[in-house]
Amino acid sequence: MTEFKYVVLVRMGEIALKGLNRGRFEARLTRNIKSAISSYGRFHIFQRQSRIWIEDLYSEQPVLDDQEVAGQIMRSVSKVFGIVSVSLVRKFSGDMDNIREMAVRFIEDRLREQPFDTFKFETKRGDKNFPLLSPEISGDLGGLILERFPQLRVDVNAPDLIVYVEIRDAFYIYADKVYAHRGLPVGSSGKGLLMLSGGIDSPVAGYMMASRGMEIDAVYYHSFPYTSDKAKQKVIDLAKIISQYCGPINLNIVNFTEIQKYLYQNSPQDMLTITMRRIMIRIAEKIAVQSHCKALITGESLGQVASQTIDAIVLTNEVTNMPIFRPLIGVDKDYAVQIAREIGTFETSILPFEDCCTVFVAKHPQTKPQRKHMEFAERFLEIDDLVNKGLEGIERILIE
Ligand code: ATP
Ligand code: MG
Repeated sequence: MTEFKYVVLVRMGEIALKGLNRGRFEARLTRNIKSAISSYGRFHIFQRQSRIWIEDLYSEQPVLDDQEVAGQIMRSVSKVFGIVSVSLVRKFSGDMDNIREMAVRFIEDRLREQPFDTFKFETKRGDKNFPLLSPEISGDLGGLILERFPQLRVDVNAPDLIVYVEIRDAFYIYADKVYAHRGLPVGSSGKGLLMLSGGIDSPVAGYMMASRGMEIDAVYYHSFPYTSDKAKQKVIDLAKIISQYCGPINLNIVNFTEIQKYLYQNSPQDMLTITMRRIMIRIAEKIAVQSHCKALITGESLGQVASQTIDAIVLTNEVTNMPIFRPLIGVDKDYAVQIAREIGTFETSILPFEDCCTVFVAKHPQTKPQRKHMEFAERFLEIDDLVNKGLEGIERILIE
């Protein structure tokens, strides 16, 4: 019997388009994969022929042989940004006879797992010295399978099962591809500070910026007891979910109660939303500088609510020189909801706990705030004191 071992084949996406910097991106991706699966065991992870391969480091106790654990590993790997798809592959060596034997065993095993009617083989021949051409290999294997399993048929257009055979430094056979989240490896685009509320949009915004290679830290403005411990726990839970994609997140929890009360009493009602957002941004900027974040990230979408009109955004931006990334600015709510469902944050986001912005809301917020309104509203506010108050006593939690 031909011996084989299970290995994981990782296909890279956009990184393949990188020119001279490609090596740096690949090294980062390899590191991120390693930390995503380190709890499962020790692996040899290396790059060859534009792909990344994951093999068991110790062949005496292969982790990848356990189909259930291998499935979990594949799911974890598929959440690492920079990857297009992942497959669990049988790797072996020998000659055409070994390939034939492995093809038969592969079909046998698949039929045992789940019956099917039609199939086809797709062969890639990376080793140009191999005596048969790719179509000849596929034809040979197809004929053999029809002979051994008379109930099966070949369908080249829409088969139930596509079996991939690759002839490279060794031989590889597999069928399924787990589709991944694409993007660039986290850590290849610096670090951003995500303003994370308990809502639907901000976790999605963090996920989207991480998919462009940003490491993520987060800040949450908590107004206990107006917002409950459950609201805080919800934000922690959301951070935990997105950390599966973003990697570890330093979550800064700002005690916002006194600040909000003060603004509620001292800011004109119709300008409350915008004065509050400007304080949030000022505090966020200070935290960002301290933690080496180069940009702020929010879940804002143009026109969604009073604080997200163009005039409000203009005035919000004026309190910082740091770029504010708003990846959802041009999309509608349905789209944000769709991504939230895909990444697994939606169910948590819709839990009905107050966030601080719903407690102290103005009844008729100004949707077209002007600079002169702003100056008037902030005229008597002790802005620096408020910001310093926010920075004192921040609770920091490492989410991983
Ligand atoms: P989300 O669904 O992300 O909560 P939203 O539609 O509720 O957004 P707003 O409440 O206006 O919109 O908030 C806009 C953005 O401001 C949020 O996406 C988030 O980035 C930030 N934000 C709002 N409230 C908080 C908070 N309590 N802590 C940290 N960031 C916040
Ligand atoms: Mg919100």
